[in-house]
This record gives sequence, structure tokens and C-alpha cells, in this order.
Amino acid sequence: MPNDPITGKTVIVTGASSGIGGEIATMLAQRGASVVLAARRRERIDALAKSIADAGGRAIAVPADVALLTDVQALVQRAVEEFGRLDVLVNNAGIARLGRLDQLDVDDWSAMIDVNIRGVLHGLAAALPVFRRQGHGHVVTTVSTAGITISPTMAVYAATKNAARTIMEGLRTESTDGVIRTTEISPGFVRTELADGMEPSARERIQAGMREFGLDPIAVARAVCFAIEQPDDVEIGSLTIRPTVQN
Ligand code: NDP
Repeated sequence: MPNDPITGKTVIVTGASSGIGGEIATMLAQRGASVVLAARRRERIDALAKSIADAGGRAIAVPADVALLTDVQALVQRAVEEFGRLDVLVNNAGIARLGRLDQLDVDDWSAMIDVNIRGVLHGLAAALPVFRRQGHGHVVTTVSTAGITISPTMAVYAATKNAARTIMEGLRTESTDGVIRTTEISPGFVRTELADGMEPSARERIQAGMREFGLDPIAVARAVCFAIEQPDDVEIGSLTIRPTVQN
């Protein structure tokens, strides 16, 4: 794809072992990007790297827990060693442990803070020095419409996504020298494994919504590609992708 602006870019996608991240990585690879697949489940990202390579694309799998700064630093270092540059970091890894505040699921709150907020900050800590050195870079972060419309049981998840949104907006305002582009993507219901680890009543409710009207994760991957394919002087700051019937 010689005329595709995505061809030749190196992109890290966190949370690439399933759902939205898997589709983002697959679509970027189909369009000629070199993709670095990150997640904790090694067998999943190894399998995706193989299927991308079998289809003629370029991908490596790097197991990483985004809650650990050292893992994310090693991830960025590996991407640069392998492909010589890093053009885009897609902070997509995320978890949702829903529950009413008075259930006091303090461990779940901490886990969401570690992955959904610290994970994004760790990505910045590892990638921004590379972007500054190169003179260009793009950070894409998956937030959520759950951060816009707050529903019962979603307070802490929504708070973490709003924190990530605020961090991205802060980065944008500090990056007006044109070196770093920022994009926040807010999906509504998307059919993925996100609800699998939820407690039964939340899982049933969220999975029913996903089944009834959830988007195919490909819809989100298209939006990410749209942001990445823009010329360097064009920043798609934020995109919301909902099922048309979602309130
Ligand atoms: P999935 O559960 O299918 O994917 C989540 C991904 O995050 C997995 O690849 C998982 O990999 C990875 N992940 C979780 N914890 C960590 C960690 N500590 N370190 C590294 N990777 C981790 O859900 P989605 O695809 O739906 O979620 C992707 C993003 O989209 C999340 O940020 C989510 O909050 C957001 N989102 C999803 C919506 C939906 O309706 N599905 C709606 C709005 C936003 P592994 O377990 O192998 O580490």
C-alpha cells in the first residue's frame, strides 16, 4: 500500500490480545503498519502476531502489564529496537469492574486505577521521550462514553476513563509545538470480552447490551485508523463511536 499514510508507521497497541485492541492491530497491519502487540496473555498476542505475519504483515508480540512502569518501558524499547522508530502509542488496555460504591470493592477500584489511569501514564512516561527525540509522535487513548454519561455501578470505571481523558487533554495543551498529536477515542457498547470478569449481575446486564446492539470492534478500529492516517499537522482530538440506538 505505497500511498497509504499508515504504511511504514510503527504502532504499539496495548490490550491487543482481544476485542478492540486486536482489531486495531489487525487493521493497522493490513494497512502496512508495523505493529507491536502488548498484553499480559502471551499466547494470544503470539497467535495474533503469527496470523498477521501469515497474511504478509509485520508484527511482534511483547508481553506487558501496563500497570508496571518497567514493563511499559521495556515495551517501548523493544518497539524501537525492532523497527527503529515509534510513531504511535495506542493506550487501549483497560478493565471494567463494575459495582455500586457501597459494595466497597476497594481492590477492584485499585485495579481499575492501576490499569486505566496508571497504565496510560506509564505509556506516556515511556513513549514521550522517544517522541521528543524523534520530533514526532501520536498518542491515542481508548476512553469511554461511560465517562460522559454516568450510570449506577459505573462510578469508578467512569472516573478512571475521565481521568485518562483529562490527562490526554493536558498532553494536548502541552504539545502545541506540533511534535505530539493526541487522540481520545470514546466507544459506546462494543461486543468484546470486557464484561467477562464482572460480577454476575453486571456481566449479564452489560453482555445483554453488547449482544443486543453492541458494535463490532472493527468500527472502533476504523476510527483509530482515521485519526492516525491524517497528515502530521492535523490532529483528530476526540471521537465518539456509539451504536446509533444507544442513549
Ligand atoms: P477486552 O476485555 O476484550 O480487552 C481488554 C484488553 O486489555 C485485553 O487485551 C487485555 O489483555 C488488556 N489488559 C487488561 N489489563 C491489562 C494490563 N494490566 N496490562 C496489559 N493489558 C491489559 O475489552 P475491550 O476490547 O472492550 O477493551 C478495550 C478498551 O476499550 C478498554 O480500555 C475499555 O475500557 C474500552 N472500552 C470498551 C467498551 C466496550 O463496550 N467494549 C466501551 C468503551 C470503552 P490481557 O488480559 O491479555 O492482559
